[in-house]
Amino acid sequence: MQRIGLGYDLHRLVDGRRLVLGGLEIPFKKGLLGHSDADVLTHAICDALLGAAGQGDIGEHFPDTDPAYKDANSIFLLQKVHGLIRQKGYKIVNIDTVIIAEEPNLKPFKPKIRSCLAQALSLSEDVISVKAKTQEGLGFGPNAEEAIAVYAVVLLSI
Ligand code: MG
Repeated sequence: MQRIGLGYDLHRLVDGRRLVLGGLEIPFKKGLLGHSDADVLTHAICDALLGAAGQGDIGEHFPDTDPAYKDANSIFLLQKVHGLIRQKGYKIVNIDTVIIAEEPNLKPFKPKIRSCLAQALSLSEDVISVKAKTQEGLGFGPNAEEAIAVYAVVLLSI
């Protein structure tokens, strides 16, 4: 049997924070705001995995009111989610993602992000896809560069 899952997340870009996507720190003047490291890509993948397995969402498993997850490394959360779905007997077939960011230009970082995720999940890179788009200056209110959003889809097999 195969099961599909969809994940979505959005974090605000602000001064004085690191920008972390898929566990990779990207040099940029701003970073993502959040209780954890605000790795929006990894969060969307976690939600897609949990959704496919019928196991709720990331907020239920790792509440942002819990001090244990303050500045948490989201790759660690992803590995916990992966462990949970494997425990239920699921295996990842593939993961596809779209990062929506007006800036920075993510093109040069996509291969490295992909390999970071593959490594974190002990999967081959060819089952992970990382795509990046702008919104042509539109969206997220008056300033398109105010946030980064991600859609993720995963297929699990059991
Ligand atoms: Mg999030």
